[in-house]
Amino acid sequence: QAKARGRGTHCVFEAAMDVHLRARLEMELDLSQALAKGQLELAYQPIFAVASGRLCGFEALLRWNHPRRGLIDPAAFVPLAEESRAIVEIGAWAMRRAMADAAGFPEHLRFAINLSPIQIGVGDIVATVRDALADTGVAPGRIELEITETALFAQDQPNFEILHGLRQAGVRIVLDDFGTGYSSLARLRLLPLDKIKIDRSFVHDAGSQSSSEAIIEAIAALAARLGMATTAEGIETQGQWEMVRRARCTEAQGFLLGRPCSAREAAALAAAAAAPPAFTGCTPAGLP
Ligand code: C2E
Ligand code: MG
Ligand code: MG
Ligand code: MG
Repeated sequence: QAKARGRGTHCVFEAAMDVHLRARLEMELDLSQALAKGQLELAYQPIFAVASGRLCGFEALLRWNHPRRGLIDPAAFVPLAEESRAIVEIGAWAMRRAMADAAGFPEHLRFAINLSPIQIGVGDIVATVRDALADTGVAPGRIELEITETALFAQDQPNFEILHGLRQAGVRIVLDDFGTGYSSLARLRLLPLDKIKIDRSFVHDAGSQSSSEAIIEAIAALAARLGMATTAEGIETQGQWEMVRRARCTEAQGFLLGRPCSAREAAALAAAAAAPPAFTGCTPAGLP
């Protein structure tokens, strides 16, 4: 009897596995065609200079407009694209798209593009970047490539040659999600990094744990001493914005300051930020 029940459970388990596997294979197939079918888009999230409060750039974030499932966030498909290596082609497309868009924005605005470790490990990423820069005509100094700490140390030893190659191409290198891996700034100081993005988990905890605020302050101060800028991610409240100001982070990004939006909305934001206020004596309705 136990055997029979065991077999029954097994069947249910197998059926569940089957559904899961099918869904996954279907996603993988859909994803392999997403680019060709024009279903991939970039959203742009504004980034602000902390000291002045001014718009200083945007981060390009992938979105998948799935015909049946609707808009899908990268967390749900980038890992799949990495496993199937589709991220190499998708990432190259995103890079070109972002650079082409950046070329149409005011010169002082920088554009950040996320790089997957797979893109760094497969093919010639330096050539891909150089080609995209040349074809879009964007000034390389306006482009920031974001690489996560875990990606950087994927093969034990960070690939110095590639990082220096990217730097030579004129782009900036930003360490993304700092604090989620195991490196210390002391270890990272040997890498050619321009900026460090402090993971939003620290920003989130800073309201309730004073130790998190102390950590953000220490990272910002040490980064500055090492000649690197810092961006605080995930600013959702006024209190968090005030905290990153106190901590003297260089830049800030988060839903409070601006959500990811379309290229068109980003352009409107840039135009509004560039326009001088009509009157200095009064505040237009609706603005703080
Ligand atoms: P990330 O590079 O750390 O990007 C920031 C993520 O935090 C974005 O999520 C953004 O929407 C979200 N975010 C921004 N402000 C706030 C906030 O105030 N609160 C909260 N809770 N979240 C905030 P998104 O767009 O879902 O992207 C998730 C991750 O997917 C990115 O994390 C990045 O690692 C990856 N990704 C996005 N686009 C690309 C891409 O083109 N290539 C690669 N390889 N990875 C990408
Ligand atoms: Mg990023
Ligand atoms: Mg990040
Ligand atoms: Mg992240």
